[in-house]
Amino acid sequence: MLLYIHIPFCDSKCFYCAFNSYVDRFHLKQTYMKAIEKQLIYDIEHYLKDEKIETVFIGGGTPSCVDFKEYENIFRIISPYLIENCEITSEANPNSATKEWLQGMRDLGVNRISFGVQSFNDKKLKYLNRAHNSNSAISAIQNAKCIGFNSINCDIIYGVQGDNFEKLKYDFNMINDQNIDHISAYSLTLEEGTKFFNKSHVKIDDEELSYKLFDYLKGLGYEQYEISNFSKSKKTQSKHNFGYWEYTNYLGIGTGAVGFVDNFRYYPNKNIEQYIENPISYEKEYMDEVDIKTEKVLLGLRSNVGVNLAIFNENELKKAKILIEEKKLYKVDNKIYNYNFLLADEISLFILD
Ligand code: SF4
Repeated sequence: MLLYIHIPFCDSKCFYCAFNSYVDRFHLKQTYMKAIEKQLIYDIEHYLKDEKIETVFIGGGTPSCVDFKEYENIFRIISPYLIENCEITSEANPNSATKEWLQGMRDLGVNRISFGVQSFNDKKLKYLNRAHNSNSAISAIQNAKCIGFNSINCDIIYGVQGDNFEKLKYDFNMINDQNIDHISAYSLTLEEGTKFFNKSHVKIDDEELSYKLFDYLKGLGYEQYEISNFSKSKKTQSKHNFGYWEYTNYLGIGTGAVGFVDNFRYYPNKNIEQYIENPISYEKEYMDEVDIKTEKVLLGLRSNVGVNLAIFNENELKKAKILIEEKKLYKVDNKIYNYNFLLADEISLFILD
């Protein structure tokens, strides 16, 4: 079982962000953390049962917006259920991840930090309405390293108006120069409900640029193991994300989080006030065999996870075989793998249609 905990507070609302996060509810921080504890205890009892927690991911929003002391009870609750050497990641933003916060989280058990760097170009950061600048990103990374975090990820966003290969190369070089082993490079999407929605001029759709960036990252030693994830070694790949792509069950704690247990997706209340009032009231969605198969194929072909051939019917197997012959996929043992993650959607559609 994986565990995801959602912290819905942010210092600014980024113009591209559709996550459930609030910039004006800081007064609810403490009651929110109490509500999370309540849901956690309930979910452990009802969904985890005799299983263990294999990975933990504290995401958001911005986990570093909340004092590390507010996480103490959460760690007290989960610690009996964690496997040995459990990967425990926390997201953090450079402006709020102070040395004290990083040290406090490390002392609690966090062993992986994922920084929302997005860019080292201050003009671009402003354009995205990020709350930090490039200098604060550099010092946050240095602080994390100094404290002893040796598994660090930096998020970078690309495909934003004004981006070009040279500028993004600079971002990747900055990360590489600081001996960071993991990069998540996301292409901008214009999501409904965000400031950027319907403003097509904000986004550059340039597949060539994506290929060039992937090649450049490879040259720096970052192996692509998913469409947006690159790592210098297997050891520093995100086990938590792998869990999602392999369709492992997960607990989803917090407002706007999503859980998945025994073929059911469950959704705690998306409204923070209502969530605080009743953190154990969920909407549930049953995933039938077709839904699950479609997702397994999509996720498997967007990553190194691959797809087990046993899930396909005869017709689908024939199409998979054609793609192997055309060298679009390759087969190892009883699984197929994708050479080019950017083609994952197209290939999945071809097989499943
Ligand atoms: S910091 Fe992250 S979660 Fe918060 S608004 Fe920006 S992108 Fe969204």
